[in-house]
Amino acid sequence: MNPESTIAVLPGDGIGPEVVREAKKILQILESRLGWTFRLAEAPVGGAGFEAAGHPLPPESLKTAKEADAVLLGAVGGPKWDKLEFRFRPERALLGLRKEMELFANLRPAKVFPALAGASTLKLEVVEGLDIMVVRELIGGIYFGEPRGVETGPDGKRKGFNTLVYTEPEIERIARIAFETAQKRNNKVTSVDKANVLESTGLWREVVIEVHADYPGVSLDHMYVDNAAMQLVRAPKQFDVIVTTNMFGDILSDEASMLTGSIGMLPSASLGTRHAMYEPIHGSAPDIAGKDIANPLATILSVGMMFKHSFNRGDVNEWIEGAVGAVLDAGYRTGDIMSKGMKRVGTVEMGDRVAAELEPRIQC
Ligand code: NAD
Repeated sequence: MNPESTIAVLPGDGIGPEVVREAKKILQILESRLGWTFRLAEAPVGGAGFEAAGHPLPPESLKTAKEADAVLLGAVGGPKWDKLEFRFRPERALLGLRKEMELFANLRPAKVFPALAGASTLKLEVVEGLDIMVVRELIGGIYFGEPRGVETGPDGKRKGFNTLVYTEPEIERIARIAFETAQKRNNKVTSVDKANVLESTGLWREVVIEVHADYPGVSLDHMYVDNAAMQLVRAPKQFDVIVTTNMFGDILSDEASMLTGSIGMLPSASLGTRHAMYEPIHGSAPDIAGKDIANPLATILSVGMMFKHSFNRGDVNEWIEGAVGAVLDAGYRTGDIMSKGMKRVGTVEMGDRVAAELEPRIQC
């Protein structure tokens, strides 16, 4: 029997609908060539959710996401909604989706396509051939810890505070994802913490070491976050998989994205035990929305991650990566990755070219 999957499609705001439209072309080609039925359930989130239902994450949209086999998200946000009360801001949709679907592991690959090695701000020899994976804990740590807030003391002075808390099960489950990810790559995990100063990340280190006992084929080392930030720009190729806390991962994965040339190139996967969501790491880019100039490749590559992680089809991911690489090798570039002598194309043409390159790669 031919496979059938339901994919919740949440285009969001700004360039979100534009890049998601190109990703849908990829799904259509896969559908027709593989005989796989994709039921695409589209729903508004972010500013679009607020406009449609008065909330950035309307209950119906959350239900659609939870019932799907996988979620594809564009991006949310825009100046139109910046003055709204915090709980109505488009970005609340992201935190809501992550928390409600328990997406505790965020995988962000930073891979340099050979044709783009010269597009990074770092020297060619530092980034050429780079392929690292940042595994970030996504629903714990200081972003969610209680107590939190701002209080005024008896002296009339204000005090702001947040709590960095990690439990053993939270650390254990993200460590397992990191070791299992490394097993499918180069068998090396670097755990990043601040164990010399923060007790909670001292526990992080202890638990990662305990979990490592179950993965004897994978090597493990530890790095303090300040050193990791430095090593990422000094010699990034020393890393294979980096596993770290929510806040450290937030910062280090943005740093790692710059190694690849453009934020428009980087996909991501957010995984839980029952649900998974795939999205480009960039935002809604209101400055370029509606102009057919956004780079759709991060979203197209996110579809590849969906096949690898949700549908156990690493081969489909490789075909998609191969098609993207071929289009870049042929010299086609959106504005963000444009360089001298290359052929500038818009969002739609880039999507069409990847789709055309993908078709002959598909093996039934
Ligand atoms: P951004 O990622 O939207 O844009 C940063 C810069 O990168 C801009 O100059 C933009 O034009 C460019 N850029 C981003 N994606 C691109 C692409 N695919 N192709 C070409 N250029 C691209 O970040 P920002 O400007 O800080 O935020 C804009 C809005 O997006 C805000 O409302 C913010 O809250 C929201 N945001 C959403 C997400 C998300 O949905 N996951 C992530 C980050 C920011």
